Amino acid sequence: MDNEVVVDLRSDTLTRPTPGMRAAMAAADVGDDVYGEDPTVNALEAEIATLFGHEAALFVPTGTMGNQICLRLLAGPGEEILADADAHIVTYEHGAAAALFGIQTRTVVSPRGLFDTDDLLAQVREGDWHTMGTNAVAVENTHNRGGGAIQPLAELTRLSAELQDRGVALHIDGARIWNAAIATGTKLSTYGQLADTLSVCLSKGLGAPVGSVILASAERIAAGRILRKRLGGGMRQVGILAAAGRYALAHHIDRLADDHARAQYLAGRLEVPADEVQTNIVRLDGVDAAGLAKAAAEQGVLISQVASDRIRLLTHLDVDDAGVRHAGDVLAELLGR
Ligand SMILES: *Cc1c(COP(=O)(O)O)cnc(C)c1O
Repeated sequence: MDNEVVVDLRSDTLTRPTPGMRAAMAAADVGDDVYGEDPTVNALEAEIATLFGHEAALFVPTGTMGNQICLRLLAGPGEEILADADAHIVTYEHGAAAALFGIQTRTVVSPRGLFDTDDLLAQVREGDWHTMGTNAVAVENTHNRGGGAIQPLAELTRLSAELQDRGVALHIDGARIWNAAIATGTKLSTYGQLADTLSVCLSKGLGAPVGSVILASAERIAAGRILRKRLGGGMRQVGILAAAGRYALAHHIDRLADDHARAQYLAGRLEVPADEVQTNIVRLDGVDAAGLAKAAAEQGVLISQVASDRIRLLTHLDVDDAGVRHAGDVLAELLGR
């Protein structure tokens, strides 16, 4: 047993800023972003808006705040959002849409978080004097609890068009949309044009220490700026963090392909069907999650328990080939594979 090696596969949020990223942060030109005067934040917002083909963007501290601002832009108190039952907004945001904004969330169960367009559309209701109507649908791409599954572009495109016909908005929780884009060769602007609002994370696979960005029309982003202030997310010389985001856009998008290849390596080693691993997440189902996590930790491999019988492994910027090989050896032995 080698106690010196620690391979941390619990999350892709665990990455630490690289020397190049730290240098960019130290050199950042800054101003007060609450006044709209931080040039680095303004540059990041403009750059991301262009990448996704949206009119405007807004830098926010976390993906959770980004999602919640977007949901509030699409629905108000006593209005309804339809989402996947395993979505981040349902599972990991502590009921924020209900607690903060009085939004009702109705959920649809879908295997690996991948919606069936017809099933989802069948749940979209037109409101009247008697019936609660659906204001917006939220879709996660890639799907976190679904094991990094990618929503097929053809289905997303059809969903977007059908919703538009019904006057129902579409939000994409794109915390890991970068991974979907790299894995499928889809342009970010192609995803962008399908959604009324998107939230994207800089602090997952892209390796920035903090930060997410929301995208929408200029009018919605202006309203979103007020919501961000209300939630306490108006920050001052935050160009220091936006600089990390800009560095990540320039240097850390294409390399996501390495994370995907390493996830495939782990899938092969651990006998997980290759088609269940589409991006940087490997799901181990039907295992004694607590026992496995404890035994692996003793050999320097940190993994996440997401259910009593499910483990999640994530590859990221701070895990190299030697790291995944070590993790593969340790886990394969513990699992008898
Ligand atoms: C990580 C994540 C978020 C945002 O999380 P924060 O920790 O609030 O930044 C949102 N959606 C998904 C799918 C995520 O994985």
